[in-house]
Formats: sequence, C-alpha cells, structure tokens
Amino acid sequence: MSTPKTTKEPAPAQQASALASVNPATGDVIAVHSVQTPAEVNAAVERAREAAATWRDLGFDERKKYLLRWVTYLLDHAEQFSDLIHAENGKPRDDAYLELVLAVEHVAWAAKHAKKALAPKKVKPGVLMANFSAVVEQRPLGVVGVIGPWNYPVYTPMGSIAYALAAGNAVVFKPSEYTTTVGNYLADSFRLANPGLRNNIFTTVNGYGETGAALVKSGVDKIAFTGSTATGKRIMATAAESLTPVLLECGGKDAAIVAADADVKAAADAIAFGAMANSGQTCVGVERVYVEKAVADEFIREIRTIISGLTPGEGPDSSYGPMTMPAQIDIVRKHIADAIEHGGTAIVGGLDSVKERFIEPVVIVDADESSAAVQEETFGPTLTIRTVKSVSEAIRLANASKYGLASTVYSKKQGLEIARQLRAGATSINSVLGFAAIPALPFGGVGESGIGRIHGEPGLKEFTRPHAIASQRFALPGMALLSFKRSKMTTVIVKKAMKVLHGRYK
Ligand code: NAD
Repeated sequence: MSTPKTTKEPAPAQQASALASVNPATGDVIAVHSVQTPAEVNAAVERAREAAATWRDLGFDERKKYLLRWVTYLLDHAEQFSDLIHAENGKPRDDAYLELVLAVEHVAWAAKHAKKALAPKKVKPGVLMANFSAVVEQRPLGVVGVIGPWNYPVYTPMGSIAYALAAGNAVVFKPSEYTTTVGNYLADSFRLANPGLRNNIFTTVNGYGETGAALVKSGVDKIAFTGSTATGKRIMATAAESLTPVLLECGGKDAAIVAADADVKAAADAIAFGAMANSGQTCVGVERVYVEKAVADEFIREIRTIISGLTPGEGPDSSYGPMTMPAQIDIVRKHIADAIEHGGTAIVGGLDSVKERFIEPVVIVDADESSAAVQEETFGPTLTIRTVKSVSEAIRLANASKYGLASTVYSKKQGLEIARQLRAGATSINSVLGFAAIPALPFGGVGESGIGRIHGEPGLKEFTRPHAIASQRFALPGMALLSFKRSKMTTVIVKKAMKVLHGRYK
C-alpha cells in the first residue's frame, strides 16, 4: 500500500489515485499511498463486518488481552513511531512521544474498563410491571468508521478507535491526508501485535475528503469524526441520508480565565504552553485569555517573557514545529491582520512572524471581541489577551462563542465555581489540558465544537447500543395488562393504584 520515498516530489493533490505524504518542515515526500475508491471503501467495510462478529464474540476478557498486547507493542516501538510522527506531522520528537504515550494510556484504560462500564444493568420494572425482570445490555454497533485529523494523528483518532474496539466493534479508519503514514502505522501495529488474531478488525482506507465521504456512505454503523466544524457539518448532512449516527469532535476557540487570586507565574507558564505547543494546532489549545485587572500587568509581563523566548524549528530543541497544513498559514495571517485592524496591539511578534513553513509566536492584547482572532478558530501559535474588570465579565466573554470545547481557569479559591459557569465540554483548573490526559474523563464539546463524547465510560457507551430486555417472570392472575383478555376489574385496580402512587403531587 505504501512506498517509502525520500526524494522531493510534486504536491500530492494533483494525483487523484495516489497521495504523497510530505514532511511539513522540509517538503520531502515520506511515502506515497494509493487512494481508495468508493468501491474499495465499501469492500473494506464488508471485510470489517465479517471480522466484527469474531471480535465481538471474543468477549471483554479476550479483547482486553489483545488490546493490552497492542499497548506493549506500541511502547516497544515508541522510538520508531515517534520518529514517524515527527517526520509527517512536524511536531518535535518529544512531543510526538508524549502524544503516543497519552494515546496508549487510553487504549489501556478502555481495555481494562470496558467490561465493567458495559456490563448488563438490571433496572427496577416498576409497580405496573412488578412481575417482570428488566435489564439493559450494551451491544457493540458492528463496524465503526473513524475519520481523523492531522494535528494529533495518533491521540485524537485513538479516542474513538480504542473505545470502539474495546466495546467490541471493528474499525475502519480514514486518517487525514496529511498524516496517512502515521494512520497506517497505527493499524499495522494492531495487526503485528496480535499475529494470532484474524485480519480486518482494525484497518485503514486512505485518501482525501472523498474517501472520507465514501466511508460515511458505506453503511458503517456509526461515524466517529474528528476535524473541523465545517467538515463535521458536511458529514452529518451526508450521514442523515441513511440515519447513520455520528460522533463529531470539531473545532474550538478555548478561553483561559486568570482570576485576581491566581498564581500568576504558573498561569503564564501553563497558558504559554497551552497556546503555543504543537504550533497552536491543538483543538483544545488556549486561543483567548481573560485576565482580571488586578493581575493583568504582571500576567502580561510574565507571558510575554516566556513566549518571546520560544523558537519554532525542526531541531530537537525547538519549542514547536512547522505548520502541518500549508493552507492554515494564510488563515493565521488573516487573523493577525484582522486583530491589529480591530484595535489589537501585538506585544510579541506580528504579521512578519508568519514565515513560509513556520510561524513565530504572536501575542495580541485588546483586539476587539468581534474580530476573527477572538471569534474564529485560528489554529496557529497566536494568543489574544483581554483585561477584564471582574471574573463575571471574564465568564461572560469566554462563553460568548459559538464553540464550546474546553477551557482553563487559574484561581486559588474559585476555580471550581468559575468552571461550573463555563459553557464547555471540559475545564482544567490551575493547569492546561489536564482533562485530556485522564482517560476516565469524557471528552467532547458543545455548540459548534461537536456532538457526543469520547473517553471514559460515556466514550465506551458511544460505541454501543442499549438493548432493553423485559422478561415476564410469572403471570399475575387477573392482571393481564397487555392482552385482549384484560378485564374491566384490571383497569379499576390500575386506576386506584395510580392514584395512590402518583395522585398526591399537588
Ligand atoms: P478537516 O475537517 O479538514 O479534515 C478532517 C478529516 O475529514 C480528514 O481526514 C479529511 O480527509 C476528512 N474529510 C474532509 N472532507 C470530508 C467529507 N466531506 N466527508 C468525510 N470526510 C471528510 O480537519 P483537519 O484540518 O484535518 O483538522 C483540524 C481540525 O480538527 C481543527 O478544526 C481542530 O480543532 C479539529 N480537531 C478537533 C478535535 C476534537 O477532539 N474536538 C481534535 C483534533 C482536531
């Protein structure tokens, strides 16, 4: 499927049947992959469907063994895999390693917790059905189609892949066209870690958006998508035609609030990382800061010092790497220009910071709240900071976004109280991104940030359907409710019982 290459080749987009994966720091072609046609996508889903039955029937304990073997395999090959992530996505090698181990943590958690989280649950049948037992069983869906982005090409799709597999589904994964080699390495690693296991439990289909669209139409039992909001909406519209359920993990415009009682140095350190790591190409990266007046000068001074010292590059000591997707560079440039035009002052960098492949860090203070840099996802190494009069103003502005993915709060005493008022799927208090590294916590957004949850118990349940089973244990004499033999007396008894049970709430 893949031909390793080291030479420079023309851009891939012109070749419909092949996809060249490019090192974003150098432009070198890493590998060439064939692009799957819709017919090939359908065939891959069919093969996965056959494998799904075997995988489902193994049960939780057996599946756990295979998934944990995969965990060990990934750790044994972590150096090699990190090198590939570094080469194809551009992030520094150590960041690639961190991404990999965070993904591994999720596989291990899902493998170990699926049995308990998805165990059959007895429920009370209620007075009317007292002669019944009732149980909810969680069944795997069958084949899950996963469509992934390039910014965290292992960690992000793994939030769907590991949880779908642990719940007993087969997975067909369409990696981003920018990180296809990483996606294929991931699926190959599952197979290589488990030589005794039948093929096609976790496979990939490669290509651009058209291949993803073919996967949505292929008859999979659910689509788990991570990527931009615009693509998420297109996927949901296509999936609606066949009522294929969707899980959508989309974009964000995450805010950090720094309250007057915050540890300002710690806040500046963490927020600088949350904003600039991975060149700001993080769905839950910090893009906006609202800082209370009392500590604003100190915070701005601290963060300016830290961020001014950051150096993008491809070497081992670089703070962050190149922009992975060339088209994003223009968006970042436009947001910086728009912010400056709308009252913003660049206190670190400026328009000149945007280079051909790398963008040096940019910090803008007091840009108008309506500017693109405050409202739209920038997805680059930029940060806006606004000084606010109070925590309540900070909360109001943080919530004034169509997105609602994650958030950060720095406050010694009111962290939880502030977090509870934020319209977001997750909040990290006195740290950044903490929630993403805790597998038991569900992950996902509100509003235009998406639908559904990966990670944790909700993340396992996303890849199952509840099957409700009511069993009559014995017939109640004279109380045949669900029968044409129901007597007048039965209705009289039911009426009386209902009055006693529910007729007193006035
Ligand atoms: P994208 O939407 O351009 O592409 C994502 C995937 O969708 C790719 O594999 C692409 O080939 C595929 N695709 C494109 N058009 C399609 C279509 N019509 N039908 C089916 N599939 C299609 O996003 P991207 O640029 O790869 O990723 C960056 C975005 O992802 C950012 O907005 C970021 O915030 C978001 N993201 C969100 C999360 C999260 O968990 N919420 C995590 C990481 C990234």
